[in-house]
Amino acid sequence: MLKLLQEETPKATWIVKDNKKSLLSGCKPVTLPLSKEDTLVMKKMIDWVRVSQDEKLNTDKELTEAIGIAAPQIGANLNMYYILLPILNEKTDKVTYFEHALINPKISGKSKQIAALKPGEACLSVDKKHEGLVPRSYKIHVSGYDFLKKKHVSLIVRGYEAIVFQHEQDHLEKKIYYHHINKKDPWFKKEDWIII
Ligand SMILES: [Zn+2]
Repeated sequence: MLKLLQEETPKATWIVKDNKKSLLSGCKPVTLPLSKEDTLVMKKMIDWVRVSQDEKLNTDKELTEAIGIAAPQIGANLNMYYILLPILNEKTDKVTYFEHALINPKISGKSKQIAALKPGEACLSVDKKHEGLVPRSYKIHVSGYDFLKKKHVSLIVRGYEAIVFQHEQDHLEKKIYYHHINKKDPWFKKEDWIII
């Protein structure tokens, strides 16, 4: 299990829902080195997602299991998000993690190839179900300062990982996944889209 960074236990009530204006009011760039306050925001995001994925710590399922969270979702309108994707090695049964805690992330390149998750997307800040495909770029170039790696990172990601980054980046840019769903025909897809 990944360790927690704060003594305070993450709570479901930390999450700002999409009925609050602040979720869609945009985010400010973050100054490096991080201030104490901004460090706390990042640590709270990391702990929230880590606990949500931990069966022992999230016993009563108080936290909805999450793979990513963006700062405005815990009430801080700052350009930061955290992604934690567990990867199970089926041969060894061991779990490794694809993990990034990005500060001032930028998506600078997007493929024309579109991909979407077969069941659609979901979000911690959205209680109502919004069905439909969310078209995203299949491949992206994302860069930013990684709080955990303590350095600037530049990544090319594809498929599921790329979709997760684009979902979180949306939170910094006044968007939510359902804004991308085709209103007339939610499950509309073009022939060449990759459905994951
Ligand atoms: Zn979300």
